[in-house]
Amino acid sequence: MVHIRSRDGTRETQRVFRPLPAIRPSAKDPATKGPSVTMDMTNGTMMRRKVLGGMAAVAGASAFGCFASADLPTNPDVVVIGAGAAGIGASQRLTALGLSHVVIEASGRIGGRAHTDMATFGVPFDLGCAWIHAADRNPFFKLARSVHYQLHRHDAALDRIYYGRDQTDQAGLDAESDAEDAIDKGLTRLADDSRDVPATEAVHGWTLPFEAAATYLGPMDMGVDFADLSTFDYAKTADLDPNYLVREGFGTLVVKTGASIPAKLSTPARVVRYGVGKGVRIETDSGTIDAFSAIITVSTGVLADSLLRFDPELPDWKEEAIRRVPMGLLAKIPLLIPGDKLGVKPFENILVEYPGLQDIYFLAWPFATDLMVGFIGGEFGWELSAAGEEAAVAFAKERLAQTFGTSAPQRVTKALLTGWASNPFTRGAYSAALPGHYAERAVLARPLADRIFFAGEAVAGRFIQTCNGAYLSGIKVAEDVGAVLAGRAPSR
Ligand SMILES: Cc1cc2nc3c(=O)[nH]c(=O)nc-3n(C[C@H](O)[C@H](O)[C@H](O)COP(=O)(O)OP(=O)(O)OC[C@H]3O[C@@H](n4cnc5c(N)ncnc54)[C@H](O)[C@@H]3O)c2cc1C
Repeated sequence: MVHIRSRDGTRETQRVFRPLPAIRPSAKDPATKGPSVTMDMTNGTMMRRKVLGGMAAVAGASAFGCFASADLPTNPDVVVIGAGAAGIGASQRLTALGLSHVVIEASGRIGGRAHTDMATFGVPFDLGCAWIHAADRNPFFKLARSVHYQLHRHDAALDRIYYGRDQTDQAGLDAESDAEDAIDKGLTRLADDSRDVPATEAVHGWTLPFEAAATYLGPMDMGVDFADLSTFDYAKTADLDPNYLVREGFGTLVVKTGASIPAKLSTPARVVRYGVGKGVRIETDSGTIDAFSAIITVSTGVLADSLLRFDPELPDWKEEAIRRVPMGLLAKIPLLIPGDKLGVKPFENILVEYPGLQDIYFLAWPFATDLMVGFIGGEFGWELSAAGEEAAVAFAKERLAQTFGTSAPQRVTKALLTGWASNPFTRGAYSAALPGHYAERAVLARPLADRIFFAGEAVAGRFIQTCNGAYLSGIKVAEDVGAVLAGRAPSR
């Protein structure tokens, strides 16, 4: 008998296959983890690889250049906080509207959670967003085509499922696919009945295919355990098909898009004062900027943290909304495995289901590279991220051994764990409303005193959690700011 946490949120249950050896860390405290560390398995050395700040070696602002500080307006109409996709979208639209502005960015590069690492594996690797979702409606897809990037349409259907060490046959794959459909219908029905409840209410009977489907749709997609997933978050988002992967890296597309924005890098906003001067006053380590309005694009993880303060403090209703739309986590553990491809074709989707929600999803060999990309999410993702890179890589290698044999992990020459959980400028992967609190996303989006505006993936309507959603939300909010500054009512 095994006592573990289960899919429906209860903590004790019995399961059939063997429990994991004790990799599970003791504490969930993402703040304790330091910068991501790249492990070089060939010589056993560990190379410190800062995920944040001054990343000259990876695709980033340095490759495309941002304005020199001297060129930045000192007394702009608008200050945009954050140069991720939302900040870039906002900046472009402010420029089109003829509004002077400056984008201040805490880290040493633009792109935010869109970040392609060019250095570690010898091929581009997206630490953050990788799939261009809803490509037929996605501006980054158009850009990718116009610059002749190599794109691969990638179906989300699972190609292999392992329950413990046992691989299912085609009937097992079909059963999981049917379970996904049933869950999708169940979640949609609950949402249609105006019931924003934990997604587990859509499941009646936890057979293995339902467990696999809940893992795939919950932690591996929405960044939260299925019991923590809001039915509205799931059902009110757009269909994200068709999905494309980008050989040159999604992150590089976002950086290209923002190449000419007036960004001031390595400049965290410390205090946002409003109702002072001509409207807002932003304090940074390198000075104070006065403007009529500010557009805040930082994640809800950052808003909930103490790095960025508001004066006067945010009203209770806004604080409440921030608390109720916290960050979910999806973390990647790419493993570089040169040589033999383990009998797995490029782009295969592989799910390995285990007791205690200690599951992993592998994207195999994207673009025929030597990368087997592991993904962990939800509570287990937080826990393993807090345990650190060594533990996370050991976990991914153990799953590899259990599914492909003990020689497979021995062939891993490099690996890393993405550091979004501990990154002080994101504090997680993307927002996930608590069940029952989807409506707080609209509250999150509400401006303060028509001076402080909020944009980003958390307030991206039908494209929450996505890069294109963040970008479009930046554009929309810039238009609202323009309308208010012109004395018109915003379109909301
Ligand atoms: C692992 C992972 C996988 C993902 N996969 C996909 C995917 O496949 N497809 C997809 O579409 N989306 C995906 N996403 C989500 C997507 O990357 C995000 O939704 C999107 O990039 C968010 O953009 P944003 O502008 O809202 O926020 P951010 O990109 O976080 O931008 C906010 C910026 O604000 C900066 N900042 C923070 N604090 C301060 C401060 N005090 N002062 C100044 N600047 C500050 C940050 O450094 C950051 O650059 C993924 C995300 C992660 C983490």
